[in-house]
Amino acid sequence: MSPASLPLETTVDYLLNPRNGWHAARLREHFLPTDVELILTLKLPSEHKDDAVFWHFDKCSMCIVESGYRLAIQLRDSATAGLSVGVSKGWNLIWTLQVPAKVKIFLWRILDNVHPTKVNLVIRKVLSDASCSLCGSLCETLMHALFHCAFAQKVWRETIFADFGIM
Ligand SMILES: [Zn+2]
Repeated sequence: MSPASLPLETTVDYLLNPRNGWHAARLREHFLPTDVELILTLKLPSEHKDDAVFWHFDKCSMCIVESGYRLAIQLRDSATAGLSVGVSKGWNLIWTLQVPAKVKIFLWRILDNVHPTKVNLVIRKVLSDASCSLCGSLCETLMHALFHCAFAQKVWRETIFADFGIM
């Protein structure tokens, strides 16, 4: 059974228990068990702070265009490196990126194609239908979910990466 999707406007507050950290039941409702275990290991701040949009790729939130461009170039180069000289070069680059560990793990899982796309879940006999839940395409591969799906493209168009012609 697939986890229930979250609306785009969902904030982290929805996934928190007001008294004692993560709301485990909601996490289990919306994420895969392996992801729930990872999320539950994330430490929460000791004092409450309101949700806010935050660009964590740079210490100076005023520099998001420059740091966004730098990140986009790193990602493009890592993809090129991974394709042309082997995946291990891409892995090495991922571990040197100045990004949070969760981003490195996400990128590493992309290179290793272990994200629970529907195609991967069909291969592992978890699901029998590999069609995309959002657009109905026949195969929800990693590339489809991240780049080719009309819904993913709509998200990319709302980011700064669209301005650089990367997506
Ligand atoms: Zn799709």
